Amino acid sequence: MILEEVIIIGCGPCGMSTALELKKRGISSLIIEKGNIVNTIHSFPTHQTFFSSSNKLELSDIPFITNKHKPVRNEALAYYREVAKRNELRINAYEEVIFAKKENNIFFIKTINKFGEEKDYKCNYLVVATGYHDQPNLLNVPGSTLPHVNHYFKEAHPYYNQKVVVVGGKNSAVDTALELYHADAHVTVLYRGSEYSESIKPWILPEFASLVKHNKIKMIFNAEIVEISKNNIRYKMDGALYSESVDFIFAMTGYHPQIDFLKSLSVNIESHSGRPKYHSNTYETNIDRLYVAGVIISGYNGNETFIENGRHHGYHIAKSINLNMMKKIEV
Ligand code: FAD
Ligand code: NAP
Repeated sequence: MILEEVIIIGCGPCGMSTALELKKRGISSLIIEKGNIVNTIHSFPTHQTFFSSSNKLELSDIPFITNKHKPVRNEALAYYREVAKRNELRINAYEEVIFAKKENNIFFIKTINKFGEEKDYKCNYLVVATGYHDQPNLLNVPGSTLPHVNHYFKEAHPYYNQKVVVVGGKNSAVDTALELYHADAHVTVLYRGSEYSESIKPWILPEFASLVKHNKIKMIFNAEIVEISKNNIRYKMDGALYSESVDFIFAMTGYHPQIDFLKSLSVNIESHSGRPKYHSNTYETNIDRLYVAGVIISGYNGNETFIENGRHHGYHIAKSINLNMMKKIEV
């Protein structure tokens, strides 16, 4: 087993940007990714348009030029593939990190590949950039794991003429409801909030609000989900119990990071926010030479870190690793 200088877990935009910034400083890194590059973006709805303009999704000042101001998912996938290829990033795809420990100042990592085979790695510096998208916030009510309850939306066509309930009231919920409506699904949105969320992007709210106003989409506020069965979803509103007939449910309830993995490495986690303890200038955690990058730094509040700001973490991490390496040489 060779000793890697830096291992980055997760090849999202923030893991990639860290590898690019390290490369600029002549520091070798290996990315270990359980899927393939920008796995999270690949799992977006097929026809997703980003709310960011393409220049705000660029990594390491590598231009991302699109015809329209805001790119679609496929354009972003092509951009990140090209960035990885041209920069010859070292990426071990389809290997999931299942365990890590630090012993005698070296990090030891265990992965499992798509055939269930395990592999061991070791490195001097470890960067955890595992995002949050693979851990949806579950509804945790009876019936919430039934097969017609989904947390990811891809395309609307299969739901033509079906009764679909969307749970949640932010951007994914509104986007999903609109796409379903345009494919002639019968859409009801159940939201626990009492009014439209301020998080909804101003360019998508008017169409949605208008469809609600004209009874094309049924929108129910203050709805607390209590139970799901094969054909119904039951919710409480103002103390009374209601039921909505349903064929499919999309619970667009957001996501949370893999906090237990960081805890297993003794990173301090703020219990109420799920935030790891890290230095704001370097992104180094309370564990020496262990860094966090991307949306994982925001704990349970995934609406704080995006590609737009998370892509800059790599610059600070690479600068800090570079400084640490120079100090080591001086000693
Ligand atoms: P991720 O992109 O989630 O990458 C983490 C990577 O780690 C993944 O590839 C995952 O497979 C891998 N991984 C996880 N666990 C392991 C493991 N144990 N072993 C190996 N690999 C692992 N942000 C914007 O700035 N602009 C937008 O317009 C925008 N639009 C969005 C639209 C949608 C529908 C959604 C859901 C999000 C959007 N975001 C947008 C947010 C953006 O996707 C995230 O902020 C961003 O992906 C975070 O990057 P990351 O590198 O931290 O994590
Ligand atoms: P989100 O912003 O976390 O919103 C989750 C929604 O689900 C909220 O309305 C929340 O209610 C509700 N919710 C959470 N847990 C619940 C529970 N247990 N029961 C009932 N309701 C629950 O998630 P998201 O909308 O998927 O967005 C995730 C990220 O993707 C964000 O960064 C967002 O900006 C981004 N996004 C971007 C685009 C785009 O670029 N076009 C599209 C979609 C999403 P509260 O409102 O009360 O918190």
